[in-house]
Amino acid sequence: MLEDSFGRRVDYLRLSVTDRCDLRCSYCMPEGFKGYEESENWLSFDEIERLLSVFARLGLKRIRLTGGEPLLRKNLPDLARQLAALPGIDDLSLSTNGTQLAKHAASLHKAGVTRLNVSLDSLDRARVRAICRRDALPQVLDGLEVARSEGFRLIKINMVALAGTTDEDITSMVTYCMERGFVLRLIETMPVGATGRDAGFLDLRPVRERLRERFGLVDGVIPGGGPARYLVSSDGGFQIGFITPISQHFCETCNRVRLGVDGMLHMCLGQNDCVDFRTPLRADCSDAELEDKLRAALHAIRTTYYSTAMNLTCISRQPFQT
Ligand code: SAM
Ligand code: SF4
Repeated sequence: MLEDSFGRRVDYLRLSVTDRCDLRCSYCMPEGFKGYEESENWLSFDEIERLLSVFARLGLKRIRLTGGEPLLRKNLPDLARQLAALPGIDDLSLSTNGTQLAKHAASLHKAGVTRLNVSLDSLDRARVRAICRRDALPQVLDGLEVARSEGFRLIKINMVALAGTTDEDITSMVTYCMERGFVLRLIETMPVGATGRDAGFLDLRPVRERLRERFGLVDGVIPGGGPARYLVSSDGGFQIGFITPISQHFCETCNRVRLGVDGMLHMCLGQNDCVDFRTPLRADCSDAELEDKLRAALHAIRTTYYSTAMNLTCISRQPFQT
């Protein structure tokens, strides 16, 4: 079992399958961004499968496919099928901006993806265009309808709350999700990189209290150990989570690491350090060497991050790295 010395178990991996994206959300990517990873440096599907099979033997249980925009990676359902079949992996999910979802929902579901997170920051077409710098709303809504009819176990809408997000934007999204059985999550912008820092921050704590009152919501717990704090409707039919890395940090319960498309394992979203797995994979290393490297990465690096965060009581008070 992969555990750091503070007793946090790492059983969840966010796997970036591409760094490319068809949108340019203001809080995530600069408008003219071009610095993509060369394709020869992308881990192949077989390299990913090998590394994650070792990881799964050490206790990895859940994998989320993400990006960039993961649906831009060619033949993604093939990778999903490979990962869903790994012994020990009991949950395969996908985070997407939804622009290509209508086309791929059925093949992904068939390949073993059971849960979807779809990013959608507003139901107002002009506002989506302003935030994503593309006219994406019609395709995203279309993709969501196709995914709904496909019968995914769970669909969550991730809505980043920016400085200009109004109560009206949020209320419309609550109603939209209630009507469709989607779980809604509101996310505070994280100051990751220059774009994240410039995005503008909205403290979600007062928003949560207003929504609690308006919709008669009560505190709820959703299993899974994620960072969101939930409110639920009295009949349990609607759930809304608040991801508040800035106003209320969650380092103590963090259970996840991130693998970049280039094979770099990132231990913490708020730090730059990472460990290279592409080089050993391409140098024919043994599974035992991969295991040792995974253990060392998690033990040594996460411990440093965690104590730093705890010393400061809140990771968000540190200057985030680019
Ligand atoms: N392209 C996919 C998408 O948008 O869902 C997957 C990758 S995206 C980086 C994953 C999530 O990170 C999205 O929900 C997005 O809204 C969120 N995100 C990106 N930059 C962020 C920031 N600076 N602060 C908070 N959330 C951010
Ligand atoms: Fe692309 Fe997702 Fe970043 Fe938006 S948040 S630019 S959709 S990777």
